[in-house]
Amino acid sequence: MTADDALRAELAQLTSAFALHLRLLDARGVRTLPAAASPRFGVAVERPAIERPAIEHLSPASPAAEHPMESLLEAPAETAAASAQPLAGPLADPPAEPGALDDLIDDGSRPPLERLGALRDHIGDCQRCRLSNKRKNIVFGVGNPDADLMLIGEAPGFDEDQQGIPFVGKAGQLLTRMIKAMGLTREEVYIANIVKCRPPQNRDPEADEIDACEPFLKKQIDIIAPRIIIALGSFAVKTLLRTTSGIMRLRGSWKSYHGIPLMPTFHPAYLLRNEAGKRPVWGDLQLVMAEMDRLGLERRR
Ligand code: SF4
Repeated sequence: MTADDALRAELAQLTSAFALHLRLLDARGVRTLPAAASPRFGVAVERPAIERPAIEHLSPASPAAEHPMESLLEAPAETAAASAQPLAGPLADPPAEPGALDDLIDDGSRPPLERLGALRDHIGDCQRCRLSNKRKNIVFGVGNPDADLMLIGEAPGFDEDQQGIPFVGKAGQLLTRMIKAMGLTREEVYIANIVKCRPPQNRDPEADEIDACEPFLKKQIDIIAPRIIIALGSFAVKTLLRTTSGIMRLRGSWKSYHGIPLMPTFHPAYLLRNEAGKRPVWGDLQLVMAEMDRLGLERRR
Protein backbone atom coordinates (compact mmCIF):
# COMPACT_ATOMS: atom_id res chain seq x y z
CA MET A 1 0.00 0.00 0.00
CA THR A 2 1.41 3.40 -0.97
CA ALA A 3 1.41 6.42 1.33
CA ASP A 4 -1.43 7.91 -0.73
CA ASP A 5 -3.45 4.71 -0.38
CA ALA A 6 -2.88 4.69 3.36
CA LEU A 7 -3.91 8.34 3.60
CA ARG A 8 -7.05 7.71 1.56
CA ALA A 9 -7.92 4.68 3.68
CA GLU A 10 -7.45 6.64 6.88
CA LEU A 11 -9.55 9.50 5.54
CA ALA A 12 -12.31 7.08 4.54
CA GLN A 13 -12.30 5.59 8.05
CA LEU A 14 -12.38 8.98 9.71
CA THR A 15 -15.22 10.09 7.45
CA SER A 16 -17.15 6.92 8.16
CA ALA A 17 -16.64 7.21 11.91
CA PHE A 18 -17.66 10.88 11.92
CA ALA A 19 -20.76 10.24 9.83
CA LEU A 20 -21.76 7.37 12.09
CA HIS A 21 -21.26 9.58 15.11
CA LEU A 22 -23.56 12.20 13.60
CA ARG A 23 -26.19 9.63 12.80
CA LEU A 24 -26.08 8.13 16.26
CA LEU A 25 -26.40 11.59 17.77
CA ASP A 26 -29.37 12.17 15.53
CA ALA A 27 -30.92 8.88 16.50
CA ARG A 28 -30.47 9.82 20.15
CA GLY A 29 -32.32 13.09 19.69
CA VAL A 30 -29.43 15.58 19.42
CA ARG A 31 -30.61 18.41 17.20
CA THR A 32 -28.22 21.26 17.97
CA LEU A 33 -25.23 20.66 15.70
CA PRO A 34 -24.19 23.91 14.02
CA ALA A 35 -23.19 22.43 10.69
CA ALA A 36 -25.49 21.03 8.04
CA ALA A 37 -25.50 17.26 7.90
CA SER A 38 -26.09 14.82 5.09
CA PRO A 39 -29.43 14.79 3.29
CA ARG A 40 -30.38 11.58 5.08
CA PHE A 41 -29.48 12.94 8.50
CA GLY A 42 -32.54 13.03 10.66
CA VAL A 43 -34.88 11.73 8.01
CA ALA A 44 -37.13 9.01 9.28
CA VAL A 45 -37.28 6.22 6.74
CA GLU A 46 -40.64 4.59 6.33
CA ARG A 47 -40.55 1.06 5.00
CA PRO A 48 -43.53 -0.60 3.44
CA ALA A 49 -44.88 -3.68 5.13
CA ILE A 50 -42.69 -6.62 4.25
CA GLU A 51 -44.20 -9.02 1.80
CA ARG A 52 -42.21 -12.23 1.84
CA PRO A 53 -42.46 -13.91 -1.54
CA ALA A 54 -43.20 -17.57 -1.60
CA ILE A 55 -39.97 -19.25 -2.58
CA GLU A 56 -41.74 -21.75 -4.80
CA HIS A 57 -43.19 -18.92 -6.89
CA LEU A 58 -39.81 -17.69 -7.95
CA SER A 59 -38.92 -18.63 -11.47
CA PRO A 60 -35.87 -20.65 -12.43
CA ALA A 61 -32.93 -19.02 -14.09
CA SER A 62 -33.65 -17.68 -17.54
CA PRO A 63 -30.84 -17.62 -20.08
CA ALA A 64 -29.32 -14.19 -20.49
CA ALA A 65 -29.35 -12.97 -24.08
CA GLU A 66 -26.44 -10.73 -23.28
CA HIS A 67 -24.59 -10.00 -20.13
CA PRO A 68 -22.44 -7.06 -19.10
CA MET A 69 -20.04 -9.02 -16.93
CA GLU A 70 -17.30 -8.86 -19.56
CA SER A 71 -17.34 -5.09 -19.56
CA LEU A 72 -17.85 -5.03 -15.82
CA LEU A 73 -14.51 -6.66 -15.33
CA GLU A 74 -12.81 -4.01 -17.43
CA ALA A 75 -14.77 -0.92 -16.47
CA PRO A 76 -13.11 1.65 -14.22
CA ALA A 77 -14.80 1.80 -10.86
CA GLU A 78 -14.82 4.25 -8.04
CA THR A 79 -13.04 2.79 -5.07
CA ALA A 80 -15.22 1.13 -2.50
CA ALA A 81 -13.58 3.21 0.19
CA ALA A 82 -14.62 6.39 -1.58
CA SER A 83 -18.24 5.27 -1.67
CA ALA A 84 -18.23 3.77 1.80
CA GLN A 85 -20.99 4.70 4.19
CA PRO A 86 -21.03 4.76 7.96
CA LEU A 87 -20.94 1.72 10.20
CA ALA A 88 -17.67 0.56 8.70
CA GLY A 89 -15.02 2.08 10.87
CA PRO A 90 -14.02 2.46 14.49
CA LEU A 91 -16.58 4.11 16.70
CA ALA A 92 -16.16 7.34 18.53
CA ASP A 93 -19.23 6.89 20.74
CA PRO A 94 -18.78 6.07 24.42
CA PRO A 95 -20.13 2.68 25.46
CA ALA A 96 -23.77 2.60 26.47
CA GLU A 97 -24.83 1.74 29.98
CA PRO A 98 -24.67 -1.97 30.85
CA GLY A 99 -27.86 -3.70 29.80
CA ALA A 100 -28.96 -0.82 27.59
CA LEU A 101 -27.19 -2.16 24.51
CA ASP A 102 -29.17 -5.37 24.31
CA ASP A 103 -32.37 -3.39 24.72
CA LEU A 104 -31.30 -1.04 21.94
CA ILE A 105 -30.32 -3.83 19.59
CA ASP A 106 -33.54 -5.74 20.12
CA ASP A 107 -35.94 -2.81 20.29
CA GLY A 108 -37.66 -3.05 16.91
CA SER A 109 -39.34 0.31 17.44
CA ARG A 110 -35.97 2.06 17.15
CA PRO A 111 -34.49 2.96 13.75
CA PRO A 112 -32.22 0.34 12.16
CA LEU A 113 -29.34 2.82 12.15
CA GLU A 114 -29.51 3.22 15.90
CA ARG A 115 -29.83 -0.51 16.46
CA LEU A 116 -26.86 -1.22 14.19
CA GLY A 117 -24.84 1.35 16.10
CA ALA A 118 -25.76 -0.37 19.34
CA LEU A 119 -24.73 -3.71 17.87
CA ARG A 120 -21.39 -2.26 16.83
CA ASP A 121 -20.95 -0.89 20.34
CA HIS A 122 -21.79 -4.33 21.68
CA ILE A 123 -19.11 -5.97 19.54
CA GLY A 124 -16.58 -3.45 20.79
CA ASP A 125 -12.91 -4.48 20.54
CA CYS A 126 -14.03 -8.07 20.19
CA GLN A 127 -11.76 -10.85 21.42
CA ARG A 128 -14.38 -13.58 21.27
CA CYS A 129 -12.35 -15.76 18.88
CA ARG A 130 -8.75 -16.18 17.78
CA LEU A 131 -9.27 -14.13 14.63
CA SER A 132 -8.86 -11.10 16.86
CA ASN A 133 -5.16 -11.92 17.30
CA LYS A 134 -3.93 -10.66 13.95
CA ARG A 135 -6.68 -8.46 12.65
CA LYS A 136 -6.14 -4.76 12.17
CA ASN A 137 -9.79 -3.77 11.97
CA ILE A 138 -13.14 -5.34 12.68
CA VAL A 139 -15.06 -5.22 9.41
CA PHE A 140 -18.57 -4.68 10.64
CA GLY A 141 -20.52 -4.00 7.46
CA VAL A 142 -21.35 -1.11 5.20
CA GLY A 143 -24.33 0.38 3.43
CA ASN A 144 -27.94 1.31 3.92
CA PRO A 145 -29.43 0.22 7.28
CA ASP A 146 -32.79 0.06 5.49
CA ALA A 147 -31.51 -1.89 2.50
CA ASP A 148 -33.84 -4.13 0.55
CA LEU A 149 -30.89 -6.12 -0.75
CA MET A 150 -28.11 -7.54 1.42
CA LEU A 151 -24.97 -9.17 0.03
CA ILE A 152 -23.04 -11.51 2.29
CA GLY A 153 -19.55 -12.81 1.68
CA GLU A 154 -17.19 -15.00 3.60
CA ALA A 155 -14.61 -12.97 5.50
CA PRO A 156 -12.47 -9.84 5.17
CA GLY A 157 -9.28 -10.08 3.14
CA PHE A 158 -6.13 -7.98 3.35
CA ASP A 159 -7.57 -4.75 1.94
CA GLU A 160 -10.73 -5.06 3.98
CA ASP A 161 -8.72 -5.64 7.15
CA GLN A 162 -6.58 -2.60 6.39
CA GLN A 163 -9.55 -0.32 5.77
CA GLY A 164 -12.22 -1.81 8.02
CA ILE A 165 -14.66 -1.89 5.09
CA PRO A 166 -15.98 -5.02 3.35
CA PHE A 167 -15.21 -5.70 -0.32
CA VAL A 168 -12.71 -2.97 -1.13
CA GLY A 169 -10.00 -4.91 -2.99
CA LYS A 170 -10.18 -6.04 -6.62
CA ALA A 171 -13.01 -8.43 -5.81
CA GLY A 172 -14.78 -5.60 -4.03
CA GLN A 173 -14.45 -3.35 -7.06
CA LEU A 174 -15.99 -6.07 -9.17
CA LEU A 175 -18.80 -6.43 -6.65
CA THR A 176 -19.40 -2.68 -6.89
CA ARG A 177 -19.75 -3.03 -10.66
CA MET A 178 -22.11 -5.98 -10.25
CA ILE A 179 -24.27 -3.89 -7.93
CA LYS A 180 -24.26 -1.02 -10.42
CA ALA A 181 -25.21 -3.38 -13.24
CA MET A 182 -28.31 -4.21 -11.19
CA GLY A 183 -29.29 -0.54 -11.12
CA LEU A 184 -28.15 -0.02 -7.54
CA THR A 185 -25.24 1.52 -5.65
CA ARG A 186 -23.22 0.34 -2.69
CA GLU A 187 -24.95 3.02 -0.66
CA GLU A 188 -28.35 1.49 -1.39
CA VAL A 189 -27.52 -2.08 -0.41
CA TYR A 190 -25.89 -3.53 2.69
CA ILE A 191 -22.71 -5.59 2.51
CA ALA A 192 -21.33 -7.83 5.25
CA ASN A 193 -19.43 -11.06 5.80
CA ILE A 194 -19.97 -14.23 7.79
CA VAL A 195 -17.06 -13.33 10.10
CA LYS A 196 -15.84 -9.83 10.82
CA CYS A 197 -12.10 -10.35 11.21
CA ARG A 198 -9.62 -11.51 8.59
CA PRO A 199 -8.52 -15.13 8.90
CA PRO A 200 -4.73 -15.45 8.60
CA GLN A 201 -3.56 -16.06 5.02
CA ASN A 202 -7.21 -15.71 3.97
CA ARG A 203 -7.97 -19.28 5.07
CA ASP A 204 -11.58 -20.34 5.56
CA PRO A 205 -12.98 -19.41 8.97
CA GLU A 206 -13.15 -22.37 11.33
CA ALA A 207 -16.29 -23.69 12.97
CA ASP A 208 -15.65 -22.18 16.40
CA GLU A 209 -14.85 -18.81 14.82
CA ILE A 210 -18.13 -18.87 12.93
CA ASP A 211 -19.98 -19.89 16.08
CA ALA A 212 -18.47 -16.90 17.85
CA CYS A 213 -19.16 -14.36 15.12
CA GLU A 214 -22.28 -15.45 13.25
CA PRO A 215 -24.68 -14.19 15.94
CA PHE A 216 -23.56 -10.66 15.03
CA LEU A 217 -24.45 -11.23 11.39
CA LYS A 218 -27.78 -12.74 12.35
CA LYS A 219 -28.54 -9.67 14.39
CA GLN A 220 -27.57 -7.42 11.47
CA ILE A 221 -29.94 -9.33 9.19
CA ASP A 222 -32.65 -9.10 11.80
CA ILE A 223 -32.18 -5.33 12.13
CA ILE A 224 -31.88 -4.54 8.42
CA ALA A 225 -34.62 -6.99 7.45
CA PRO A 226 -33.60 -7.21 3.79
CA ARG A 227 -36.19 -8.40 1.32
CA ILE A 228 -33.57 -10.37 -0.64
CA ILE A 229 -30.14 -11.78 0.24
CA ILE A 230 -27.36 -12.63 -2.20
CA ALA A 231 -24.88 -15.11 -0.72
CA LEU A 232 -21.48 -14.73 -2.34
CA GLY A 233 -19.45 -17.88 -2.67
CA SER A 234 -19.51 -21.41 -1.41
CA PHE A 235 -18.56 -20.67 2.16
CA ALA A 236 -21.22 -18.03 2.74
CA VAL A 237 -23.87 -20.20 1.11
CA LYS A 238 -22.98 -23.29 3.13
CA THR A 239 -22.92 -21.34 6.37
CA LEU A 240 -26.18 -19.46 5.83
CA LEU A 241 -28.10 -22.45 4.51
CA ARG A 242 -26.51 -25.01 6.82
CA THR A 243 -25.79 -27.27 3.90
CA THR A 244 -22.82 -29.24 2.67
CA SER A 245 -23.84 -28.85 -0.97
CA GLY A 246 -21.42 -26.85 -3.08
CA ILE A 247 -21.99 -23.56 -4.82
CA MET A 248 -21.96 -25.28 -8.21
CA ARG A 249 -25.13 -27.17 -7.30
CA LEU A 250 -26.83 -24.37 -5.37
CA ARG A 251 -26.28 -21.24 -7.43
CA GLY A 252 -28.94 -20.03 -9.79
CA SER A 253 -32.00 -21.08 -7.84
CA TRP A 254 -33.78 -19.46 -4.94
CA LYS A 255 -33.27 -20.70 -1.41
CA SER A 256 -34.70 -19.37 1.83
CA TYR A 257 -32.90 -17.89 4.80
CA HIS A 258 -35.51 -17.83 7.57
CA GLY A 259 -38.16 -16.80 5.05
CA ILE A 260 -35.98 -14.31 3.17
CA PRO A 261 -35.32 -15.30 -0.47
CA LEU A 262 -31.63 -16.05 -0.85
CA MET A 263 -29.81 -16.28 -4.18
CA PRO A 264 -26.51 -18.18 -4.03
CA THR A 265 -23.94 -17.09 -6.58
CA PHE A 266 -20.20 -17.10 -7.13
CA HIS A 267 -17.90 -14.88 -5.10
CA PRO A 268 -16.41 -11.97 -7.09
CA ALA A 269 -12.93 -13.26 -6.23
CA TYR A 270 -13.82 -16.47 -8.05
CA LEU A 271 -14.88 -14.47 -11.09
CA LEU A 272 -11.51 -12.72 -11.15
CA ARG A 273 -9.91 -16.14 -11.59
CA ASN A 274 -12.61 -17.78 -13.73
CA GLU A 275 -13.98 -15.77 -16.62
CA ALA A 276 -16.45 -18.54 -17.43
CA GLY A 277 -18.29 -17.77 -14.20
CA LYS A 278 -19.39 -14.35 -15.38
CA ARG A 279 -22.29 -15.53 -17.53
CA PRO A 280 -23.98 -17.68 -14.86
CA VAL A 281 -23.50 -14.91 -12.30
CA TRP A 282 -25.18 -12.43 -14.60
CA GLY A 283 -28.06 -14.89 -14.91
CA ASP A 284 -28.28 -15.05 -11.09
CA LEU A 285 -28.31 -11.26 -10.85
CA GLN A 286 -31.04 -11.08 -13.48
CA LEU A 287 -33.17 -13.34 -11.31
CA VAL A 288 -32.58 -11.02 -8.38
CA MET A 289 -33.49 -7.96 -10.48
CA ALA A 290 -36.67 -9.64 -11.70
CA GLU A 291 -37.67 -10.45 -8.14
CA MET A 292 -36.91 -6.92 -6.99
CA ASP A 293 -39.14 -5.60 -9.76
CA ARG A 294 -41.89 -8.06 -8.85
CA LEU A 295 -41.75 -6.86 -5.25
CA GLY A 296 -41.74 -3.21 -6.35
CA LEU A 297 -38.30 -2.54 -4.85
CA GLU A 298 -36.44 0.51 -6.09
CA ARG A 299 -33.63 0.22 -8.61
CA ARG A 300 -32.67 2.10 -11.76
CA ARG A 301 -33.50 0.24 -14.99
S1 SF4 B 1 -14.31 -12.75 14.01
FE1 SF4 B 1 -16.11 -12.00 15.10
S2 SF4 B 1 -16.12 -13.13 17.05
FE2 SF4 B 1 -14.05 -13.32 16.19
S3 SF4 B 1 -12.91 -11.62 17.13
FE3 SF4 B 1 -13.70 -10.89 15.14
S4 SF4 B 1 -15.65 -9.87 15.65
FE4 SF4 B 1 -15.08 -11.17 17.42
